[in-house]
Order: sequence, then C-alpha cells, then structure tokens
Amino acid sequence: MSQCKQDLKQEKYMEPIVIIGSGMAGYGLLRELRKLDKAMPVTVITADDGAAYAKPNLSNALASKKSAASLASQSAEQIAASLNATVLTQTRVTRIDPAARAVETDRGVIAYGKLVLALGADPMAHGVTGAAAPYIHSVNDLADYACFRDALDGKRRVTILGGGLIGCEFANDLVSAGYAVTVVHRGPQPLERLLPEVLAQQLGAALAQAGVTWHYGRIAVQAEPTGEGVTLTLDDGQTIESDVVLSAIGLRPRIALAQAAGLTTARGIVVDRTLQASTAGIYAMGDCVEVAGMVLPFVQPLLQQARALAATLTGKPTAITYPAMPVVVKTPALPVTVAPPAAGADGEWRITPEQNCVVARCENEQGQLQGFALAGQGPGLRMELTKQLPATLV
Ligand SMILES: Cc1cc2nc3c(=O)[nH]c(=O)nc-3n(C[C@H](O)[C@H](O)[C@H](O)COP(=O)(O)OP(=O)(O)OC[C@H]3O[C@@H](n4cnc5c(N)ncnc54)[C@H](O)[C@@H]3O)c2cc1C
Repeated sequence: MSQCKQDLKQEKYMEPIVIIGSGMAGYGLLRELRKLDKAMPVTVITADDGAAYAKPNLSNALASKKSAASLASQSAEQIAASLNATVLTQTRVTRIDPAARAVETDRGVIAYGKLVLALGADPMAHGVTGAAAPYIHSVNDLADYACFRDALDGKRRVTILGGGLIGCEFANDLVSAGYAVTVVHRGPQPLERLLPEVLAQQLGAALAQAGVTWHYGRIAVQAEPTGEGVTLTLDDGQTIESDVVLSAIGLRPRIALAQAAGLTTARGIVVDRTLQASTAGIYAMGDCVEVAGMVLPFVQPLLQQARALAATLTGKPTAITYPAMPVVVKTPALPVTVAPPAAGADGEWRITPEQNCVVARCENEQGQLQGFALAGQGPGLRMELTKQLPATLV
C-alpha cells in the first residue's frame, strides 16, 4: 500500500518503524524485517523516487548502455506492495524530534515507534572554482546517473576528478564505452591508500593501456566554459579541454540531521553494536553510520547490519559482527580485489605472481594474514585468502 502521492499533513500513524532512506540500506532492512515479521507497520520515507536499484551498477553501466530506468529493479509502489510497507517518496525529513518521537518532513509530521537513519552519504565538495564549476557532475544515485548520461550524449572527452575506487571504475567504464578519458588524481598512483604501491601502479598502467590519460599528483582548481565544453586548470597551471567533468573524490556520511537532533556523531552517526544511536529508539545503518570507529561505505557491511538490526527491531537484541569483507574493484582492464589490513594492524606486504594474477599478502610477524590485494583473475584464490583473514568485527 503505497502512499506516494498522498498528502500527509493530517496523517497519523500507529507509531510504525520509520526508516529514512530507500537505498540498499533502508530497503535491505525492510526485506530482512519482513523475513521475521510480515505485519509490523513499517514506513520508509525517502527524498528520491524510491526506486530500488543496486548502486554499484552506476559505475559500470555506461559500456553496456544501461539507462537509469533499466537499472531500477522495482518501483516504490512495487516495493510497498511486495513488502507490505508504506513508502513515502519525494519526501524529505527536515528535523528529528526525539522527545516527541516524530520526524518533520516537507509534507507533514510522522510519529515513529523506532526510527532508523539510512541516509547514505554526500559527494565531497570538489573545491573547483569558476563559471563551469556548478556543471561538474557527481554520480551517487540513479537521478545523478540519468543526468550524467544526458550530459554525455554526443560528447567525447570526459575528465574525472579522483582516481580512487569509484573514479577508476568510471574511467574503465567510460573508456570501454568509447570516450576519451582523463583522470586528475592527487596521489602518486590510483587507489594508493588501499593498494600496495606495485599493484596500484599496475592498475594505473592497465587503465592507461586501455586509453586513460593520467595526471598524477595534481588537483583541478578552476573550470571555465569554452564553447560547448570546459577548460579545466590544474594546480600546476596545465589545462585540460573536456566536454564533461565528473567528480569522484569521495563521499561523506550524511550526519547533519542526526547532529541537529543532538545525536552523537563523529565521521558518521555513532552507534553501539546493536546499531542504536546515542538516543534510545533511534538506529543508524549504511553509508551514514559509524560502528566501532569504522565507516564502511560498502554493500556487504550494510547487509550484515540489515540482518542484525531486523533481529533487534523484532525483539531479539543482536550485536553486529563483520566477517572479513574484501572489496572488488570493477575495473575489467585489471580486476582488483582488496581487503586492507585493519587500522593499526602490524604486517608487511609480500608480493608474488600466482596463477593468472599478482597477489600481495600483508602478514604479521607470526605469518598470519592481515590483509591482501589481488590483481588479475583469481576467484579461487580470493576465496581462499578471504577465509584466512581475521574477522573485521567480532
Ligand atoms: C558509483 C558507486 C559504485 C559503488 N560500487 C560499489 C561496489 O562495487 N561494491 C560495494 O560494496 N559498494 C559499492 N558502492 C557503495 C555502495 O553502493 C553503498 O555503500 C550503498 O549503496 C549505500 O547505501 P545506503 O542505503 O547507505 O545509501 P544511499 O543509497 O545513498 O541511500 C540514502 C537514502 O537516503 C535518502 N535520504 C537522505 N537524506 C534524506 C532526508 N533528509 N529525508 C529523506 N530521505 C533522505 C536518499 O534519498 C536515499 O534514498 C558504490 C557506490 C557508488 C556511488
């Protein structure tokens, strides 16, 4: 029973579980809740159109010519009907009132029994100035992707700001789709904070071989319109002519609503091991959350969170645990999997060529594996190494 178009001003609910956010975290929780309880009232409030989609597909959909509509697996109405929930789309929460157990939205006030913040993360500000700066894209949801695809129509030259995980994936996807791709990256090689140097260099070289032009050790400072395109000026004065510019310099958890409501925040919304925030009855999960000092903006952690939180909300308080969770970088030019060692873990990288890939193992003095990175094809090895890793959170 979707109430997508209903005016909420007079609406009163019987204190449902209210989830803010219809991303993989919010809908992931809804799905897990329904496995445990078919009937408890659940309302999802979302600022977007509430379509369900796998966000990781945004950075490898261009080469396969996928439209935003084709990436959506279900509409808000279909989710509402299949999971027996109320989904309020195009509805932005503007304030949380913990004392009244209610949220204020731009369409009225909604009371909650338990509140779950699944707010996601915002693209970081790129800091580029100039008349074309407002036209720099970022792709963090389906609507952004639709807008980016429109901008690319009939164009050829794309510059990406940032050679991290998402920047590399877009670079590979765009070059495979026939675009002339330039990446401006602050570091000395791509993914330098995740990968040991040798593998990072191999990834950069593989993308260069595929056609990507790199500007390492540089940032873009100014963007000015020129004809149909943009002239980007870098911090060393070099200029790059582009048709479209994409910023992929990182994401920052959305914490403003929680902060304004007096919840404890740090890098993310700080929660305990049951994902409860500093105020009783409010929980957080997904890209906006910080658990045990960790912000892990990936799919596997949010799926773990969804299972644990569904159990907690249906009466069985459950502490979150994380297994080892390697991240796959979707760069067909050189597929990479990485499980970085935990912050503060001791160990040294040892790099060996194996089967059809190169493996970097980070081992401590006792020879125990603390992290690994694998470049190339090695699915069996990936599973074997993952099994040897310590859990991320026990
Ligand atoms: C291009 C790209 C590629 C990726 N690739 C991978 C990958 O290969 N593997 C991997 O593990 N992870 C990947 N990730 C990360 C992964 O997709 C995210 O961790 C995950 O999708 C986050 O889901 P979320 O629900 O927490 O946030 P989001 O999907 O951002 O959802 C947030 C929701 O909150 C809503 N919202 C926010 N504020 C309000 C408000 N005030 N009122 C109402 N609604 C609000 C939004 O409308 C949205 O519905 C990728 C991310 C990107 C951007």
